[in-house]
Amino acid sequence: MLAGTVTAFSFMSAGTAQAQGALVMYCGVQEEWCRAMTTAFERETGVKVSMTRKSAGEVFAQVKAEAANPRADIWWGGTGDPHMQAAEEGLTVEYKSPKMGELQDWAVRQWEQSKNRTVGIYSGALGFGYNTELVKSNGIPEPKCWADILGAKLKDEVQVADPNSSGTAYTLLATIVQLMGEDKGFEYLKSLHKNVNQYTKSGAAPAKAMALGETTVGIAFMHDIVTMVVDKAPIKVVAPCEGTGFEIGSMSIIKGAKNLDNAKKFYDWALTPAAQKIGAEAKSYQVPSNKSTPVPAEAPKLSEIKLINFDFAKYGSSEERKRLLSKWDAEVKNLP
Ligand code: PLP
Repeated sequence: MLAGTVTAFSFMSAGTAQAQGALVMYCGVQEEWCRAMTTAFERETGVKVSMTRKSAGEVFAQVKAEAANPRADIWWGGTGDPHMQAAEEGLTVEYKSPKMGELQDWAVRQWEQSKNRTVGIYSGALGFGYNTELVKSNGIPEPKCWADILGAKLKDEVQVADPNSSGTAYTLLATIVQLMGEDKGFEYLKSLHKNVNQYTKSGAAPAKAMALGETTVGIAFMHDIVTMVVDKAPIKVVAPCEGTGFEIGSMSIIKGAKNLDNAKKFYDWALTPAAQKIGAEAKSYQVPSNKSTPVPAEAPKLSEIKLINFDFAKYGSSEERKRLLSKWDAEVKNLP
């Protein structure tokens, strides 16, 4: 439902929109936020936006497949790893926004590490949640740590996305490897597989399934689980006791963009507090990258979560990302 929808908003009169031209955006966050950004940018500029929402790995695959004749101009949102890989593979271009001086250090570091080809737009920590009613009725101890979701009582009761399509799930893979070391990390993922009921395409799907009572535990970005809590679902959000990874959601301009000026216009606008506060209004509770954008009260506090020293350059590199994903396919996904 979320993946692959195409939306062309046209609130401006055709004449105005045409006068300002068009922009083709691939959007990697939740559909609601993608739509809200599209609408606001159209209102602000008169540029007509054609937006497609896909998960991070899927956008990467599409941008790569279209490299000879790019369809999109701007790739906004989604975890940084495929943006970093695209930068390394020359699928995106260098750009220095006049807004760079207003950004948090982690957002600028992302830009520097990608040789000026992708910039941080928000950050958020990975975690899991559990449905409090299901835990209670099935007599399951409340999980607090990554180790706790391996228990036999959670067989077929854990949901997470597939790291090939989902940036959230790739963040889990890279987090577990960094936290436990590669050998122990893969042992962990194989044990977890016994409890996984479904590898979804989109990273936030497990949070929704948890809210509907379709799975007891869902692994996702904590801010995506908070969205469900705000909607009054019986869910508790957990920052795993061993420590956890985090993402730097990113933005890149596609190489060969047919609407390059509008891509730059969007890029500069997307780094402003006015554009970034649309996230919280659309119930997405990440930490925004512009220092002046208010941090939503609902956003999980990164300073209170035990975060690993995530190596974004290494785990976003083309070689490492490809290697880990094929290893996960070979050793985890196809286990019985
Ligand atoms: N939704 C939100 C709000 C996010 O912050 C992110 C990651 O940046 C995602 C979704 C990731 O989506 P997926 O895991 O489907 O690539």
